[in-house]
Parts: sequence; structure tokens; C-alpha cells
Amino acid sequence: MIIAIDGPAGAGKGTLARRLAAHFRLAYLDTGLLYRAVGHAVLAAGALPEDPGRATCAAEALDPAALDDPALRGEDTAAAASKVSAIPTVRAALLAFQRPPGGAKGAVLDGRDVGTVVCPDADVKFFLTATPEVRAERRVKELRERGLEAIYARVLRDMNERDARDRARAVAPLTPAQDALVLDTSTLDADAVFKRALRHIASQNSA
Ligand code: C5P
Repeated sequence: MIIAIDGPAGAGKGTLARRLAAHFRLAYLDTGLLYRAVGHAVLAAGALPEDPGRATCAAEALDPAALDDPALRGEDTAAAASKVSAIPTVRAALLAFQRPPGGAKGAVLDGRDVGTVVCPDADVKFFLTATPEVRAERRVKELRERGLEAIYARVLRDMNERDARDRARAVAPLTPAQDALVLDTSTLDADAVFKRALRHIASQNSA
């Protein structure tokens, strides 16, 4: 079973993806980490994330073992990730890292284009969303829990900029797949989102 979960930052994708993966004993891949790793590598080399040549080289040289680096979680890395992610050759290079391994029982993938581009034939697709204010509040809490500094107004501004870039880019823009269940999580807690997702999966499987 392949479950695709897309949506903007802070909509609750990661929380839902981890819970579904544990519940169904599936592998979990946070595809945003791949873009963050590329953005981080470009910044660390002193280059600009908008530089297609440098960003593509970093994507092609990506070491999946480096995805645990806590430095990938910061907001500067997120901004760099959204810049490298608009470069078509970066997206093409990262595609190979995102295809679920053949023969595995299945996987849950979260990102921006999982249901539309990476796994268009996924068995179940979700598109989570929430108001920018709610999403920024969640991101501030998450960053502080990780021991990182976070100022609400700055996080909200950065998030709006990142959303605008992700929605406007020419290749694989952020948009719900036609067959995705769109869930606004603004007033839902993680348990409520999980229950709705399980109900949707059950209804898909019995259809
Ligand atoms: O999900 P996360 O916030 O970690 O993603 C960081 C950035 O990576 C996003 O803002 C987006 O630009 C990019 N991304 C993407 N496609 C994905 C996952 C993430 O373009 N499948």
C-alpha cells in the first residue's frame, strides 16, 4: 500500500504520516528532507540555492545517510530547500530517491508532489491544509521543542514566501491531486486527523 500525503508546511503531514506508517507497519519517507539536504549542502558550500548547476550537483551527490542531520530542520534550510526545489534538474535527480522500493509491503510518503508526480498511482492520497496562522503557530512550537529559536512573525512571513514559491513554480507545483482527500486541519488535533484518515483508507479499501 502506498499512501501519499501532500500539503504546505505545518499542515500536519509529518504527524499523520508517522502515525499511519506505525499503524500499518509501512516505511515512512519525509520527501522534504531530501530538498532540505540539497539546500543545506548548497549553503554549506557558500553557493546560492538558486544556482541550478550547484544545486543539481548537490542533488546528484545526495547521501541518504545524511538525512538525520538536525541542521536540516531550521528555517534557513527550509527557505533554501524551497529555492532548490524549483529547479527542474534538482527535482529529476531526487525522484529516484523517492520511489518506494519494489517488493516492500508499502510506504507512506509526505511532501508537495507525492500524489501528483512521485506516486501518481498511490492507493490513497491526502492533501492536508490549514490557515497560515495556525501552521505558523505549529511550526514555532515544533522549532522551540527542538531547541531552535523561533519568532512567530518571522516564521509566518517565511512560510508565506515558501508557500508562494511552492505554488507558483513551473514544475510539480503544490496542488492537490484530483483524487486526494483534502483535509483542513485548522481546527482538528492530531487524533482527529488520524481518525479521519483511517476512515478514508477503510472506505477506499472497501470500494
Ligand atoms: O516538507 P518541508 O517543509 O520539509 O519541505 C521543504 C521544502 O522542500 C518545501 O518548501 C518545498 O519547496 C520542497 N519540497 C518539494 N517537494 C516535496 C517536498 C518538499 O518541493 N515533495
